[in-house]
Order: sequence, then C-alpha cells, then structure tokens
Amino acid sequence: MESCKTEKANSIVDQPCGLYVHIPFCDSKCGYCDFYSVALKDRETKPLVEAVVEELKQRTASLEYNISTVFVGGGTPTTLPSDELRLVLEAISKSVGQVELDEFTVEANPATVEYEKAQLLKQCGVSRVSMGAQSFFPEELATLERLHTPDDIAPSVATLRRAGISQINLDLIFGIPGQTIETWTQSLQRAIDLSPNHIACYGLTYEPNTRLTAMRAASRITPCDEGLEADMFLLTIDILCAAGYDQYETSNFARPGCASQHNLIYWRNQPYIGIGPSAAGCVDNRRYKNVSDVNGYVKLMQQQHHAEVEVETLRREALMLESVLMQLRLIEGISIDAFLRRFNIDPREQFATVLPHLVTLGKIAVTDAYILLTPQGRLVADAVIRELAYACGPMNTSLNVLEN
Ligand code: SF4
Repeated sequence: MESCKTEKANSIVDQPCGLYVHIPFCDSKCGYCDFYSVALKDRETKPLVEAVVEELKQRTASLEYNISTVFVGGGTPTTLPSDELRLVLEAISKSVGQVELDEFTVEANPATVEYEKAQLLKQCGVSRVSMGAQSFFPEELATLERLHTPDDIAPSVATLRRAGISQINLDLIFGIPGQTIETWTQSLQRAIDLSPNHIACYGLTYEPNTRLTAMRAASRITPCDEGLEADMFLLTIDILCAAGYDQYETSNFARPGCASQHNLIYWRNQPYIGIGPSAAGCVDNRRYKNVSDVNGYVKLMQQQHHAEVEVETLRREALMLESVLMQLRLIEGISIDAFLRRFNIDPREQFATVLPHLVTLGKIAVTDAYILLTPQGRLVADAVIRELAYACGPMNTSLNVLEN
C-alpha cells in the first residue's frame, strides 16, 4: 500500500485543486435565487447523498492533483439530516486522504444553524462556514423571500464559534428594492460588529425565471436606482476597508490572511472538480457540467456512473480569455509569471496591441509582477476586458452536449 501512495504522490501535479460539492436542498426557495436548489419539504434525501458519495469516489480516485480546498454549497447543505451530512463530510475527508486542507467551507442559513450540526461540522474537519446574512432589515429580507430574520444572524455566528468554528463569512446584498444608503450602511456596520473574518457584498441581480424578476416585470417592485447602487458599492469599499477588511476581489473583503482559498482557485483559473447536480468542474482544460435535476442526477449516477451532460474542451484562446475575465476580478490582477508558465507567452507581449493604450488611459496598471485594473478601470471593467479579449484570438471551443 505504501508503494502505491508513493507512486501516486510522484505523479500528482503540484498545484492547488478545489473540490466543490453541491447539495441542492433548501428549506424554502428564495425569490431571487437561480442556483439549482429545490425546497426540501418531505423529500427523501438519501438517494442523492449516496449518489454524491459515489461521484466523489469516482472523481477523486484517478485525480492527478492534490485537493487543497473544499466547499460544500448548494442549496443549504446543513438541511440534510445529521447522519447524511456526516456521510457526505466523511466521504470528502476520505477522498482528500491525508493531505491537510487549506480550507474546508460549508454553507449555512442563519435560520437553521443548530449547535449539534455546528459540532458535527467541526468534528468532520470543517474550518469555515459561509452564511447568507444578506441584510439586517426585516423588510429587505422579506423582499428577498429569505427564511431568516435579522435576529437570527448574531446567534448563528455565536453558535458556530461556540462549536469551535472561527472562520466565518457573511454574504450581504446591496441594491435591494427599498434599500437606502442608510439601511445599507447599517447592515454593513452590524455585519462588522459580529467580526467575521470575511464579508462578501454582491449587487442584487435579476436572474431569468426567478420570482423576483417576475415581480419586477409585473411592476410589483421598483428596482434600486443604478446610481444609488453604484454609490452603495463605493461606500462598501470605504466602510469595510476602514474596518480592517482588504478588498481582494471585486465583491470580496477579508481580514489580512483570510481571503477565501477556494474562491481564489476559481479566480486564478486553477483546476477544480464539481460533484452533485448542476455542479461543474474544469481539470486540464476539460470542463464539464452535471445535470441540474436531483432525480436525473441520481438516475444517471446509478446507470452510467457519471452525471455529465455537457463537456467542453477549452482551446488556448478561450483559456486565455477566461484567465483575463477571472483574474481581473482580483485586485492583484493577472499574474505575469503564472500567465507565462501557462501559455508560454508573456501577457505584456500577448496584449501588446492594446495594453499601452489602456495604460495611457489610466484603466490598466502594469507592475513587475501583475497586470491589474486601476480604480478608474474597475468602473468600466467590461469595456477594458472586451479590449483585452480581442487580443486573445478567435474563441473556438469544442462543446459537446451529451445525450442522456
Ligand atoms: S438559501 Fe441560498 S441556495 Fe437556498 S434558495 Fe435561498 S439563496 Fe438559493
């Protein structure tokens, strides 16, 4: 057995790899949510759990990378009964092996954080919990159709800490209909008062086929004014940075040393595998997506031992564009060294036709190690990225939609 381990260790590619596990159940469906998740009701969850455990085994058995971060999301993974949640978390630990993880995150809902489940997370090696606080105002939470109330948030944070989980992220949303600069400022302040080591702030988006979008179409809600939303975003940066959080990505703020290692894998275009219905993965330029349906997923896993319904082989130009898109979201920007190692060309050379112009306009800065958006460039990020995209070359990918 020892020699097998040594052989595998020698062949493992020395770079971080993320593992995402999607548990698609929530106690109720929020009106703005377009993640693949279904209301739990009286649904039986065990078949899904068994299929997830099976996929975990299969995908990690031949993986040529060491998994360094885990994120169990959804959905609300903690809606699973304790024995099934344990099954999933133990299967993850087994798949990861003896390697010490940089980060092991599970998502939770402030309405349903119980001490016993928090203890279970801790026992199973979870180091970080991410909670959707979203707002500290009942009427704003009601607009989002969230299950929790503002009064649930602080006790949930306290419960997690009592169980020994000290790394906590709170998600907040700005641009909610009816939200004002004053209520947003207070939500930010109340989040800071709880002292999480990570805060993520996203502008509300109206995704197709959500109840919130239907309400807007029926004029039952009035969207936040765009200028007001931009002011909220700029205020967010001021308030969180003054409170000791570094903005390391457009929407993400962390105490020094507490940036999300798992999300950094996505933004730095490093390999990740996805497990569960609707989950996606990308390893060695091969990107796949699983079917977005609980029953369909279970059936495919039972019949075919995989649940992929889309597979795409990314060509060099598409990978380059993705690197630009993702890495410019990071405040650090595009790593010149990592780009050079991956594409065998210096990005300053690759983007030579557009870079000097963008630098002269003050949209892009180039340092010895990084190409990054300036604060001015961040305000027109889409236009800057479009310019850089042209310099990546033609965007052909081979997309293969698998037949079930
Ligand atoms: S709790 Fe999260 S995943 Fe579940 S419906 Fe609400 S936003 Fe979506």
